[in-house]
This record gives sequence, C-alpha cells and structure tokens, in this order.
Amino acid sequence: MSKNQKIAVVGAGVSGLVAAINLEKYGYQTTVFEASDRVGGRVKTDYIDGIPFDHGFQVLLTAYPAAQKYLDYDLLDLNYFKPGSAIFYKNSKDKIGDPLRDKSLLFSTLFSKVGSLKDKFKILKLRNQIKNKSLDEIFRADEKTTMQYLKDFGFSNQVIENFFAPFFTGIFLEEDLTTSSRKFEFVYQMFSKGSAVIPTKGIQAISNQLYAQLKQTKFHFNTTVKKVNNGEIELESGRKEKFDYIIISTDASKFVSNLKENQAWKSVENFYFEVENKVIDDSLIGLMSNRLSTYVNNFYYLKEKSNRNYLLSVSVIKNHQLNKDELVKVITNELNKIANINVIELKKYYLINKALPIVDSVSYMLPKSETQLKENIFLAGDHLANGSLNAAMLNGESAALAVVEKIEKGSLDIGT
Ligand SMILES: Cc1cc2nc3c(=O)[nH]c(=O)nc-3n(C[C@H](O)[C@H](O)[C@H](O)COP(=O)(O)OP(=O)(O)OC[C@H]3O[C@@H](n4cnc5c(N)ncnc54)[C@H](O)[C@@H]3O)c2cc1C
Repeated sequence: MSKNQKIAVVGAGVSGLVAAINLEKYGYQTTVFEASDRVGGRVKTDYIDGIPFDHGFQVLLTAYPAAQKYLDYDLLDLNYFKPGSAIFYKNSKDKIGDPLRDKSLLFSTLFSKVGSLKDKFKILKLRNQIKNKSLDEIFRADEKTTMQYLKDFGFSNQVIENFFAPFFTGIFLEEDLTTSSRKFEFVYQMFSKGSAVIPTKGIQAISNQLYAQLKQTKFHFNTTVKKVNNGEIELESGRKEKFDYIIISTDASKFVSNLKENQAWKSVENFYFEVENKVIDDSLIGLMSNRLSTYVNNFYYLKEKSNRNYLLSVSVIKNHQLNKDELVKVITNELNKIANINVIELKKYYLINKALPIVDSVSYMLPKSETQLKENIFLAGDHLANGSLNAAMLNGESAALAVVEKIEKGSLDIGT
C-alpha cells in the first residue's frame, strides 16, 4: 500500500472538494484542476460593497445528511427562511406554510385561498407520509412525474397551480413538473425535517468552508482540462501530467472519448433589483401563482440594503425569446402590477445555462462500485444521481472512497 499515489480531481465544485477532503483524510497527495478562478462551481457568490450576490437563488436544506456531515452550520452563520411562502395572485396575496413548524402561519394557511380545506389536510397527510419514509423507500419507488404524483395523491388543480407548481418550479427549474417523483419526495422530506437556509455571507460560504478543510491538496485555478486519458491529464495550455488516478467531478463526456453525449441541463435567470418597498418580510419566499402567464417565478429580499434601498432577488425560469432589456421591462411591470413592488434599478444579472442537470433516472447517490469509468478514471458530480448539494457531496465522497479502496485493496468491492 502506497500513499505516494498521485491523484487528480477535475473540478473544484462541491463534489470535487468533498472528494479531495476524503482523499486528504486517507493521506493521499491530491491535485485539483479548476477551470474558473475559484472554488465552488455552481455554488458561487460575488461580493459588491460587501453585499453577497449569489449566482442564482439557491438554498441549503439543513436536513441534507451529507451537509450535516461536511459542514459546520454554526460557522456558516445561517439565515433561515420560514417554512412557508407568500403567494401573489393578480389582485391579492396569501401567506401559507407548515403550521406544525411555525405557528404564526396557522391562520393565514387555514384561511388562504391557495386550495380547498381538503387540499390543506392532504398537504399535512403528504407531509406525514413522506417524513416517515426511509431514503431507500423514496429512491426505490417507481418514478413518475411530480405533476402526476400530485394528481394521483388527489390534490385539486387549484392547489397545484397556486402552490405546488410555482414552488417546485423554483426548485426543479422547470415549469411542467416533469421532474421525478423521487426527487419531489426527497426534497419534501428535507423541507419537513429541516429548514431552507442561506449563509449570511452568501452561498459561496459553503464552498469556502469545504475548501478551508483542505490543508495538503494542491489547487490549480484558471486551468482547464482538455482531455483525460487513462493515466494522463492534458490541459488546454498543452501541458500534460501523469496521475495514478483521476476523479472527474464534472460532465466527463467533454474530455473522455467514447462517452455518451453531453449532459443536458436546465437553466435559470437571476436578477437583483434595488427596490423602493418591502411587501413581505425577508424570511419568506414570494411566489407568483399564475405560472403560465408570468415570467417571474419567485423572489426574496436580501438582508442587506443598497443605497439605503431594499434588494430583491428575482428568478425567471420560463423559456422565452426576449432579450435582457425586454425581460427587465416585463418583470419590472409584473413585480409592480402583481406584487406592488417598485423597482428602482437592476443591480446584477446572472444567466446560468447549466444550473441543474436533467437526470433520466433519479437516485440518491452513486454507489462506490459505480464510480469507476476506466481502470484509472472515476466519476463524481451531482449529475450522476440528482441535482442537489447533497448528491454532489455524496458522489464526491463515493468516488474518493472508491479510489482509496482500489489502491488499498487492489480492487473495488462491487457489492458496495
Ligand atoms: C441556480 C441554482 C440553484 C440551485 N439550487 C439548489 C438548491 O436550492 N439546493 C440544492 O441542494 N442544490 C441546488 N443547486 C444545485 C447545486 O448547486 C449543485 O448540485 C452542486 O453545486 C453541484 O456541484 P458539482 O461539484 O457536482 O458540480 P459543479 O458545481 O458544476 O462543479 C464542477 C466544477 O468543474 C469545473 N470544470 C468544468 N469543466 C472543467 C474543465 N474542463 N477543467 C477544469 N475544471 C472544469 C467547473 O468550473 C466547476 O467548478 C442549484 C444550482 C444552481 C446553479
């Protein structure tokens, strides 16, 4: 057994970082190649005058088992969202949520027009059913679309259109709720067991905290990998370097020959506006109920102010043909007409083309035995299980442990 094996990780996103943490833990020399200028991948934040602007609205669910293992929540200084949403209709708004977790939401939820009383009891029934399922039960269940699942559960069109569709469109980044029912149950369970949070310093604080756990790992930033051959990494600069093992923590079809076509992705646009007024408190997420006719899907207020004005993050998930200026005009109008929010100016805009992977068959994580692509190449990344921070972490861990097992036992136990 030799700890002198050279191991490379391609990509310093959450998955690559967790792979490196595990390799370091077992005492292996690891080198990480990252195309961009910093760690984080899709978990990034820009800081302007100290204000964090996340690259797309994204939350950590505190119940994620992998996040509980790899993150120190106290140090992340978390801002908690309430377990509910403010729903905006054409001429009114509702506040609904989980009254079992936040009593202040009881009356507004009971009297909301989001759905019938029967729907509201069904929401509680669904919550209790899913909360008690094991992860195995969730991820072994037959898959159907989330929309079909909700209909089969007996929810009315009214509650699907007013609540489930806008809420889960914001999470799945697709409007038709074609995402697998397994992902729906998993997310629903995570929401009912914990909270949705963002660190005070922005989502990048998560990546930074993982990075800070690495003491021996070497990082090469602004270094794009062009090709991965069994034991060799070829960089875009033309430089080649030999490794005993290589973990690819991003879509590998870009640089490994004979792999099936590129990964398909869902996109999102995220706007940050300076606005005049506050219509919901900053621990609630605002949703537009009329998903088919509005461009805005969700919004929330940042804790920080800009020029003494409020800051609003707005997500657009709809596919459209508008250019950015046209879209700003349309959503400014929607915010004003539907939510009474007066936009002052656009502060920041992100178009994230590759936000969430489209996964054909959703699983909880990639088992160790399935991470090996070739003799010396192993795979990680959320796209191999389900698009979430939890899967990104678990798949990074799986790939690293597979490499360690291969080195230390000479082969991979395919039963794990
Ligand atoms: C807008 C948005 C909202 C989201 N919302 C949530 C949410 O609410 N909850 C949740 O759990 N998850 C959410 N996610 C998903 C979550 O961010 C991802 O699951 C996770 O970040 C994936 O990490 P990863 O390491 O697998 O991939 P990535 O973060 O994509 O990391 C891959 C890394 O590889 C690098 N790379 C790529 N090609 C090369 C190359 N050729 N050479 C070198 N380096 C390369 C990239 O630069 C990148 O740093 C969201 C994502 C986005 C974008």
